[in-house]
Amino acid sequence: MDNCIFCKIVAKQIPSSIVYEDEDLLAFKDIRPAAPVHLLVIPKRHIGTLSDAKPEDTVLLGKLLALAPKLAAEHGCAPVLQADGSLQGGYKTLINTGPDGGQEVYHLHLHVIGGPHPWRGQH
Ligand code: 5GP
Ligand code: ZN
Repeated sequence: MDNCIFCKIVAKQIPSSIVYEDEDLLAFKDIRPAAPVHLLVIPKRHIGTLSDAKPEDTVLLGKLLALAPKLAAEHGCAPVLQADGSLQGGYKTLINTGPDGGQEVYHLHLHVIGGPHPWRGQH
């Protein structure tokens, strides 16, 4: 879509730090990270908001969400059970939708936010 910054990232018309790519999805580092790990996962095909997704996009949305734990693990923020029985690590997944949802870029994206504290709750 014209004038969509994330479509331009998909088309490699503007640079980004890509961490994952397949035929349907692209993941790259957020330009203004809110935490040590801050990735954005997007469908390559332009969908403006989560509310614009159609029933036929359900499989695509599932793939988008399912990529988050894989990327989190690759970037060292999967939750890990410690020897003492405590759970450490972890990450936040977030989709902002519309103005009141805090959406700034109108191409559907899933934030994957994690890494060592302090950062929790800042996004
Ligand atoms: P939203 O508020 O729409 O959920 O989040 C948009 C995110 O996109 C923000 O965290 C912002 O830092 C990120 N962003 C905006 N423009 C660019 C860009 O050109 N490149 C990258 N890598 N991230 C961007
Ligand atoms: Zn787009």
